[in-house]
Amino acid sequence: MQITLENVTHTYQPGSPFQATAIRNVNMTVNPGEFLALIGHTGSGKSTLAQHLNGLLKPTEGRVLLDGQDIHEKGCDKKEVRRKVGLVFQYPEHQLFEETVAKDVAFGPKNLGLSAGETDARVREALEKVGLNYDDMAERSPFELSGGQMRRVAIAGVLAMRPECLVLDEPAAGLDPQSREEMLQLISGLHEAGSTVVMISHSMDDVARFATRAVVMEKGEAVMAGAPEEIFRHADRLVAMGLDVPKVCQLGLRLREEGLPFPEGVFREEDAAAALLSLWKEGKGHV
Ligand code: ADP
Ligand code: MG
Repeated sequence: MQITLENVTHTYQPGSPFQATAIRNVNMTVNPGEFLALIGHTGSGKSTLAQHLNGLLKPTEGRVLLDGQDIHEKGCDKKEVRRKVGLVFQYPEHQLFEETVAKDVAFGPKNLGLSAGETDARVREALEKVGLNYDDMAERSPFELSGGQMRRVAIAGVLAMRPECLVLDEPAAGLDPQSREEMLQLISGLHEAGSTVVMISHSMDDVARFATRAVVMEKGEAVMAGAPEEIFRHADRLVAMGLDVPKVCQLGLRLREEGLPFPEGVFREEDAAAALLSLWKEGKGHV
């Protein structure tokens, strides 16, 4: 499944004194099976863009195509678009509302009109996918769970719709280090199992570790796109936009400043270890 944005501009509250153009002329494609990271400074338009991918927001100008079909055209089933493209909002646990975990996760499939049996099977499947045990969890109140568990329940609610593409708005924000890591492993596992993933992230280390491609937003525009190694080659530009670069890139910059021939474009820990080892073996570095 492919999602294409063609010249998408979104202006909030047009014609009012609060008019604000959040994204401008964005052209991008989400390719089937990729893990796309959406990065950019706060206010650069990431969340606005994410809400266009499943048709929740409608472009003020431009088009959003799902497998070539304009999703805002008459005759396009908007419900089906929302089912195929699952959107996980930032802090999705704030939207839990049912008295039990099972009921919350069942909300989407029930709305699809699935039978009680099929709905229950979907709930089990979704909870399992997020690493929660159905028997332990189903009858508990979501509000007595830990923050990380609540977020998993919220994600399970989206997975219960069996989306082909999962869009997550800063899914690791506000979690403690261990829950963060578990959340990222969970998302990486879903990608490996075949989901297309779009993840908004502030952490360049996470982008370096998991993304197959990244799009960089600046002031509402998509200003860079490419594989992480291409993006992180422009470390100076990212820093100028107020973004971080992965710790490994910072290390590389520092080593080159010191005159060591540490290669550019290395941004993963294991590659850095190999590069340092080969420098050491060649006797070029004083490592
Ligand atoms: P990001 O997710 O990158 O932080 P957002 O998409 O949330 O960026 O916001 C982009 C811009 O749009 C910001 O200037 C923000 O103030 C504005 N904006 C976001 N939501 C609304 C809204 N509902 N009404 C008016 N302006 C908004
Ligand atoms: Mg945001």
